[in-house]
Amino acid sequence: MTIGFEVYSDKEIDRALVSRYWAQDEEGKFVEKVSELLPFEGIKNISQLVSYINEISKAWDERFQCSRCEEYQVIRSRSDYLSSKGIVCRSCIQKEKEDNEERRRKEVERLNEKLDEITEKNSSLRLNYTNLKDDEVLLLLALSKSINPRLTSSTFKLSNSTGIAPADTLFFIKKLYDCGVLTHYPPHALEGAYILEDESISFYLSRVAFMLVPDVSLGRGEALFEMLRMREHKQLSRILQLWLDYAVSDCMAYLFSECSLHGLETDAEDDLKIKSILRTALETWSIAQLWSVIWKVVRDAASLSTRVYYSKAKAAATLPGKIKRYLEQQVKEGTTLKSWERPNHQPAGTLGDIFYEYFGIDEQTLGLEVMEMFSESNEEEAEWFEESVSHIMERALFLGLGARFLIDFAEHIRSGKSVVEALASLVESYPELDDAT
Ligand SMILES: [Zn+2]
Repeated sequence: MTIGFEVYSDKEIDRALVSRYWAQDEEGKFVEKVSELLPFEGIKNISQLVSYINEISKAWDERFQCSRCEEYQVIRSRSDYLSSKGIVCRSCIQKEKEDNEERRRKEVERLNEKLDEITEKNSSLRLNYTNLKDDEVLLLLALSKSINPRLTSSTFKLSNSTGIAPADTLFFIKKLYDCGVLTHYPPHALEGAYILEDESISFYLSRVAFMLVPDVSLGRGEALFEMLRMREHKQLSRILQLWLDYAVSDCMAYLFSECSLHGLETDAEDDLKIKSILRTALETWSIAQLWSVIWKVVRDAASLSTRVYYSKAKAAATLPGKIKRYLEQQVKEGTTLKSWERPNHQPAGTLGDIFYEYFGIDEQTLGLEVMEMFSESNEEEAEWFEESVSHIMERALFLGLGARFLIDFAEHIRSGKSVVEALASLVESYPELDDAT
């Protein structure tokens, strides 16, 4: 016998019923069919009979002890017995489930407490917008255009802001988040945006709700944007970098749509390689010329993918090399690249509109012209440079940092930085140099 049981009823007929129900022969088979026990008192079917047996008795499987509480496994029917596996008993599993639920409930409680703190802290943030860099201001103006009027009146998600550029929305939004223009507002986030790990909170930028941080004096109303629109742009090297980020995104969006047309898919590593090749090429050529290059190499890769020994993945992996070689060849031969029209399905985005509005450049503008326009030797920048240098030098002397400043400056120049880059790095390491006097 491997089944133990206990009958709570005093009636002999009940005790006999339970014994017959669980009775086994030497091989462990049940002696009688359950149907042979019927009818019993007024009970005519098996399921009623089994539930009656459970009312008046309790049975357990003596083959298995729970590995946690060491109790025998409780069985409610013959099929329970036949499917019995042991290991952990039902009540231990139930207890574990309850413990997990309790732990989870506490975690959610803790997470919510933390999120309340974050909400309060982020809602009270203020930023001095006059300290923003030119590229950050232009990007903010583009964002405001793309989600107007939501930026100033409510919160928004990453998915709402895809109109800013043809691709890389996350990159551009993160830039605004990193410089303090945007913060996040937990009550409006998507489910699963925040995770509590060892008392610290992490979050997915793709799931949080972003909120514009108000200016210290102008808040976040129209006056703030009026001030930003009126601002003079002099930090040309920063604007150039933003243009290149934008131009690369315009090329990548074209690459992705051409690839999907031919069923090709590049991986993240190849995308990085391609971006870096395009970024360099954009110093010479226009976005629209690079579209024609992309069009050609994707076509070549697609025809390669139909060959034996070539898969789509292998063919896609040849793209970075193909773009690079094709461009090198054009330089060698001195050919002018063909220029494509902007595809209808790929709008320039509000950042593209801003560049056209402020600087008159777009996908047709040659990289060489853009480089010239934003070069450090440009007059405006020289003027800005002169002003900044005298201001920074004054501050350095005032703060007694003169010697330190010169030594560090020389160090930056030796490491290959330009004069402007060296100055920018110095201001980064000594933020007090840039304070208004
Ligand atoms: Zn147990």
